[in-house]
Amino acid sequence: MTTTTNRHQLLIDGKWVDALDGATIDTVNPSTGEKLAELAAATTSDVDLAVDAARRAFDSGPWRRMPAEERARIMHRFADLIEANADELALIDTKDCGKPYSFIRDIDLPNMSDLVRYMAGWATKLEGRTIPLSRQQPGDYLSYTRRQPIGVVAQVIPWNGAALAATWKLAPALAAGCTVVLKPAELASLAPIRIAELAMEAGFPDGVVNLVTGTGTDAGAPLVAHPRVDKVAFTGSVGTGKSIVAAAAQNLTKMTLELGGKSPVVIYDDADLDLAVDGALAAVLYAQGEACTAGSRLYVQRAIVDEVKERIVNAVPRINLGDSAQRDVMVGPMISDQQRSKVVSFVDGALEQGADVLVGGTQVHKPGYFLAPTVLSGVTDTMTVAREEIFGPVVSVMPFDDEAEVIARANNTTYGLAAGVWTSNIGRAHRYADAVNAGAVWVNCYNVFDAALPFGGFKHSGWGKEMGGEALDSYLQSKAVTVSMA
Ligand code: NAD
Repeated sequence: MTTTTNRHQLLIDGKWVDALDGATIDTVNPSTGEKLAELAAATTSDVDLAVDAARRAFDSGPWRRMPAEERARIMHRFADLIEANADELALIDTKDCGKPYSFIRDIDLPNMSDLVRYMAGWATKLEGRTIPLSRQQPGDYLSYTRRQPIGVVAQVIPWNGAALAATWKLAPALAAGCTVVLKPAELASLAPIRIAELAMEAGFPDGVVNLVTGTGTDAGAPLVAHPRVDKVAFTGSVGTGKSIVAAAAQNLTKMTLELGGKSPVVIYDDADLDLAVDGALAAVLYAQGEACTAGSRLYVQRAIVDEVKERIVNAVPRINLGDSAQRDVMVGPMISDQQRSKVVSFVDGALEQGADVLVGGTQVHKPGYFLAPTVLSGVTDTMTVAREEIFGPVVSVMPFDDEAEVIARANNTTYGLAAGVWTSNIGRAHRYADAVNAGAVWVNCYNVFDAALPFGGFKHSGWGKEMGGEALDSYLQSKAVTVSMA
């Protein structure tokens, strides 16, 4: 165990250790504002040790040279442990990041164990190809490709849904045969720490999974700029993503990025409104809007806009807001007071620019960092609230007239992570799915994820995919071998 009186350590080379300078940072429960635990605060020297451990474990080969069937077996054991500890993991994560317990326990945890198993299945199927050379006689040369792990991977993740984020990162990297240094967000590291403990219990060799906690500046920045790291996999904000790309460029480190979103959700006048209104609210309020896929732009066809607004005004007050650890809570707290203030300033800014509050809009005074779900009307596409990622429970309802117009407006953003549409017209649904520039499109549903389904953004929302075979590809590199048969 890493804990002595809720003091958590770094995992380096299979051992739990304090930061070299003994520094710690506190993590708090956003539902109560109370301190939960102390995290070791890594700095450059700790990061060096973690990268060295991952480097040794990769170069000496205990993991990548292990028979694939054995690697798969360890990963299956890891999945079993995630499943066996699902209640505890969900409780740790909800208290640390404020995402409602039921979402973590009932949606994230099953996806996590599914994904580790799905990737375990790939470990025995990393096949190359035999390729005939186009200017040679058959029989002159034998050319084949091999798919090999990319090496030491630095994985930096955000605080929203930390357990899920950690697993999305670890599973494909480990299946590929890479070694990892994982850096969770300073605001929510407890579930990733518990996941790293379970990885050790599952039997990954020392140095294969390393974990450094600490701030972005002191632990994250030296990790992504490290010359002995082969690949960076980052999930977080666009701003941080850009600075990481710049830092990693110095070493030409390979990179995948999962960044933010400003996802459009469209309701056509032929939609089943019972499903569409609940679905559109869930699209933005899932994890109190602290979700990269949050559907924060709601376009409603003009003929039904008044009815949709009325339904929203009736539905929102019935949504249960409170301590995220309670099973029936659907909207938990913002991660921090600072995040709440940032979201409030988006709402205030919209009101100054002429928008109106349809429902919500005020701070909820409880201990903890709660904010009422807020629905705005009178918002135009050029307002900041309609252009920038809010990362809170705020949605703008905007009317539209026809299909061409709404597709153009949906695409009028630098982001391209997700998009939703509610309609009973199958042709319309497919035309939207075809035309919208987003990595995930949901028709008459939203936020449906699966271990086998690639997830990742277009445009400024990212590079590369999580989950599915495509996630695995980004942790592998192919080598072409040519043998003369003369
Ligand atoms: P953030 O960018 O502030 O931080 C993310 C991580 O990066 C944290 O671990 C942080 O410590 C670290 N970090 C910060 N500065 C760094 C630096 N200079 N070098 C290296 N690491 C650094 O993001 P956040 O506020 O934690 O998370 C919210 C953001 O994450 C939102 O924009 C959201 O859309 C995005 N997100 C995207 C996805 C996705 O899959 N596309 C999923 C979840 C969250």
